Amino acid sequence: IVADASEYDVVVVGSGAGGLLAAIRAHDLGLRPIVIEKSDRYGGTSAVSGGAIWIPNNAFLGDQDSPAKALGYLEKVTEGRVPTAKLERYVQMAPEMVAYLKSLGIEYYTNPYMPYPDYYPFVKGSLPGGRTMLVRPMDGGALGEEFFRLRESYPEFKMFDKIALDLLDGGIILNRVKGWQKVVLRTLWRYWTDLPFRRRTHRDRLLTIGNALIGGLRKAMIDRGIPLALNTAMTGLETSGGNVVAVQASAQGRPVRIGAGRAVILASGGYEQSQQMRNENFPQATDPSWSATPRDNNVGDALTAVREIGAAVEFLDEAWWAPTVNIPYRHAPNIQRHQALFFERGYPHSLAVNRLGRRFTNEICSYHQFGKAMLRDNAETGANLPCWLIFDADYREKYPLGGLQPGWSLPDRKVPPDWFDTFLYKAETLAGLAAKIGLPVDTLAATVSRFNEYALKGEDPDFGRGQNVYNQFFGDPNHQPNRNLGPIAKAPFYAVRIDLGDLGSKGGPRTDEEARVLREDGTPISGLYAIGNCSGSVMGPAYPGAGATLGSAMTFAYAATANIARRN
Ligand code: FAD
Repeated sequence: IVADASEYDVVVVGSGAGGLLAAIRAHDLGLRPIVIEKSDRYGGTSAVSGGAIWIPNNAFLGDQDSPAKALGYLEKVTEGRVPTAKLERYVQMAPEMVAYLKSLGIEYYTNPYMPYPDYYPFVKGSLPGGRTMLVRPMDGGALGEEFFRLRESYPEFKMFDKIALDLLDGGIILNRVKGWQKVVLRTLWRYWTDLPFRRRTHRDRLLTIGNALIGGLRKAMIDRGIPLALNTAMTGLETSGGNVVAVQASAQGRPVRIGAGRAVILASGGYEQSQQMRNENFPQATDPSWSATPRDNNVGDALTAVREIGAAVEFLDEAWWAPTVNIPYRHAPNIQRHQALFFERGYPHSLAVNRLGRRFTNEICSYHQFGKAMLRDNAETGANLPCWLIFDADYREKYPLGGLQPGWSLPDRKVPPDWFDTFLYKAETLAGLAAKIGLPVDTLAATVSRFNEYALKGEDPDFGRGQNVYNQFFGDPNHQPNRNLGPIAKAPFYAVRIDLGDLGSKGGPRTDEEARVLREDGTPISGLYAIGNCSGSVMGPAYPGAGATLGSAMTFAYAATANIARRN
């Protein structure tokens, strides 16, 4: 892949969703792209994600949405910190980008049975049914040998850690929606009768969620003959007369120069796996192991490179925050890592407390807002990071928690013994539990008794739990009078430690509405673009709805390539 400027017009750094889409679109606009990827697998965090995208005015929304409504919502949640031109570009171009994905054979849809509400339900312009779109599964067999170089989805999104589920089927099984047994049988049958794949690998031929998105993009690259160089890491950017003209890289450990006749697009993810960059930029002390992203390459190489050539940077103190728990996977100890709690905080019979034994937020705000509440509470009390989720036997029996299936499916006697008192703490009394995890017994008891009174009335005057559409979406529809509130009363009692995790950092070079990297004076650095988590996010400090991170990475990939093709 060692090449000079005459060979590639566009060098894309990183093979997440934004990077791959940029390369395909560049090709379709008549340019010659290459993607370089540091890892020996392609797909980055995008491959292990839910694959959902947040698309205002998408074709399924009809007159529920309008550009003005979506823009108004975005302007409010981003607190005036993102230029309107950039927000407008997102609103205008995101649906166009989805239509382009469809032309590549990657189909997105909204699911009327799972309307995932926007994350700020109390802000004008939010939609109760949300703007989130889900990806249709794909047959991984279409990738040939490239199937095996796709970064594999996490086990928690699979049945028995290996059988692929999409978000729709997963929801049906988890919530035991009528007919769920049929879905289980159909899924098992599909997996076990796929003899060609069963003879070769445990991996499921069916690609779902993030794997479906990345698999679909990789297939489009293969069809077009676009090169992808694995094990090739950008180490710096070369400039000439103020223009970015090449990427310096290490290919299998060998230094190479890859000329970029027209542009370099940085798409190399955030810096969440770098302890040093976290220490320098995040508001409080955190640990990379708390992140739900793969534990390897997202260490801020783009940030280092753009700083060397004078780019302005922004939102370095921000991340797509998410509470995480550390589940020790016995089947796959090599992927032991923190797992995001996206929805579990919404079920009845549970609450979250800081280490003083006090509640500090509405537990079932969005995962991003929960993370921000942890930061806020820790700044005030010094007793968050970590905090604790407390629940009782009713919760344990009925509801899942990350990779811990509910008791009806995985009773305590079948839970791996080493999970107890490392991940899952259990005691016959609340006082015993408090003592075990080091919380003040009296305060915890007072918090729980107050919460239990609220649960009986179905109202939470302290934090309003269960009183907005987002909360209710994640509750138990069969639980009354409030689907998010139930007393913590039935022994035994349980606790899991919650860390301040993330789905990636979201600060980096400041970019304009064309995704061009800017200097402090606002002028673009010619030939340099940045998208996704390696750039200052179009969402600023906010997380407007599920899919806003992949949605923005791919939309600005689309905008960047349009701009590159227009130039010259
Ligand atoms: P990545 O996808 O991480 O890609 C960056 C790539 O660049 C990596 O492959 C990396 O190895 C490579 N790289 C790094 N440094 C270099 C270098 N020097 N040279 C070459 N290559 C390099 N978001 C959504 O919008 N919807 C969801 O449903 C969703 N679900 C999620 C579920 C989970 C469990 C997690 C962890 C995250 C989820 N997210 C979701 C967040 C989303 O996945 C990420 O924010 C997004 O994938 C970031 O995309 P990216 O292209 O910026 O980075």
